[in-house]
Amino acid sequence: MNPGAPETGLAEPHLAEILKTVSLDVEYVRAAGNHLFRLDDNGREVPVLDFVGGFGSVLLGHNDPEIVAYARKLLDKQLPIHAQFSRASHADRLAAALNEILRREHGDDERYFAIFANSGAEAVEAAVKHAELDRTLRVAALTDGIAANVEAARALVRAGRAVVADGAFDRAGVRERPQDPEAGFDALVAGIERHNAHRLSAPPLFLAPEGAFHGKLMGSVQLTHNEAFRAPFRSLAAQARFIPLDQPEAIRKTVDAERAVLYDVVVVDGSVTVVDRDFPVFCAFVLEPIQGEGGIHEVPPEFAREVRRTCDAIGCPVIVDEIQSGMGRTGSFLAAPAAGLRGDYYTLAKSLGGGVAKTSVALIRESHYHKEFELVHSSTFAKDGFSSLIALKVLELLEADGGALYRRAGELGRGLLAMLEAVRAEFPDVIKDVRGRGLMLGVEFHDRSDAEAPAVRDLARSGFLGYAVAGYLLREHAVRLFPTGSAVNTLRLEPSVRLTDDGIDQLRTALRGVCSVLRAEDGQRFLGG
Ligand code: PMP
Repeated sequence: MNPGAPETGLAEPHLAEILKTVSLDVEYVRAAGNHLFRLDDNGREVPVLDFVGGFGSVLLGHNDPEIVAYARKLLDKQLPIHAQFSRASHADRLAAALNEILRREHGDDERYFAIFANSGAEAVEAAVKHAELDRTLRVAALTDGIAANVEAARALVRAGRAVVADGAFDRAGVRERPQDPEAGFDALVAGIERHNAHRLSAPPLFLAPEGAFHGKLMGSVQLTHNEAFRAPFRSLAAQARFIPLDQPEAIRKTVDAERAVLYDVVVVDGSVTVVDRDFPVFCAFVLEPIQGEGGIHEVPPEFAREVRRTCDAIGCPVIVDEIQSGMGRTGSFLAAPAAGLRGDYYTLAKSLGGGVAKTSVALIRESHYHKEFELVHSSTFAKDGFSSLIALKVLELLEADGGALYRRAGELGRGLLAMLEAVRAEFPDVIKDVRGRGLMLGVEFHDRSDAEAPAVRDLARSGFLGYAVAGYLLREHAVRLFPTGSAVNTLRLEPSVRLTDDGIDQLRTALRGVCSVLRAEDGQRFLGG
């Protein structure tokens, strides 16, 4: 190490190495609109057309001038940013603005209370924690009811007005059956309590679709389907049962397979018998209306219908994660209504902060809300004045001119999709599928694990083909695209609403270029050798 020079390579050096192998280790020095800028060897700025869009966090473009001017103004006037435990009127106005939009999208008046957080995964975890509080309160009501029934039955047994029925002992797994009625009742209750204690000590389960992505924190990563992200940390948090999006009937089957009951007692005609009470096994069904990291897959309407039907039947809340699909990206503020999905909870993050602030929110339906949650959940940075006001500004821009930006996202998306479909029609042997809605699109490449060219084949087999395609597009065409987090052969397009027709043309040329190289299996050109 050079004395005096700061040491380098301490911030995730392994990731940096991987980026280098696929030509993605570029440093950006400036960002504006739909472009990032790097410097060439002569120190001149080179614009790179950005379809990664901060993983979906810059719907309005990098450093949107209105957001930046507003942020500057807030800082100049010394806005209190961290004034925890005081009246948070900015956050309250933001919650009201979000509610106004939700009312319009839902077409009804039900309110949603807001719990603010800092990142996407954190908003998911706040929603999940609230859902678990709700479940534990329901469990407590159930066990209180059972305890009351046991005491009422005990009084009848003591008074000689009831005896334990023979079948009841069998149900409760009691082998020793004392002749004395009161001792018999005690033995029955001990059996019931054994069964119930076992059930009550089990952690809850979650339901989520295969391909789901909800973050990488301790709890949220267990809702993220990708094995590589999830499996090593399994023992840290409650588990999900993952359901294929094309098998809506599997939702009911999974619920039935996991059904559990607590034992309760009832007295009928002087006989104490044991009955089942359904136990709330599931904490929540968590899903994205359009899966982002899973490869841009929309929830089919039949799946959405079955989620609601089954969850309503068993009293399980539905958490709709709009962290990637929300904030207008798909042509409306939320993507869920178009998918026929109504959330009891919504999570928003990414573009909520306008590409400048880091903020997120869990919105909780009034009929599900427990106000005590506010006293047991918080974060130092959540609900700060700066982020709240920036998010309000973002909503103002999105809602301006009767939602012109939503319409722009929808139109741009249709234009992009038409272009992608044309490229696919020209290269059906290279591009397998194009899909998505608005500015949330995916281009799936055919697997190349059997390619003749060893370089292409090896990359495909190690799961890096999508990243190598991204490297080629960046190197040769100054276009920035990445694969989705879990479906690595699908490139994701999440440009900003500032994308222009010229930008779409540039992408067309770039995609046709990489498709030609892949069709020719020109490994050397592909990898820039
Ligand atoms: N949910 C969804 C749907 C996401 O796409 C993401 C991020 N890609 C997250 C949650 C996690 O957000 P964050 O990275 O801000 O924790």
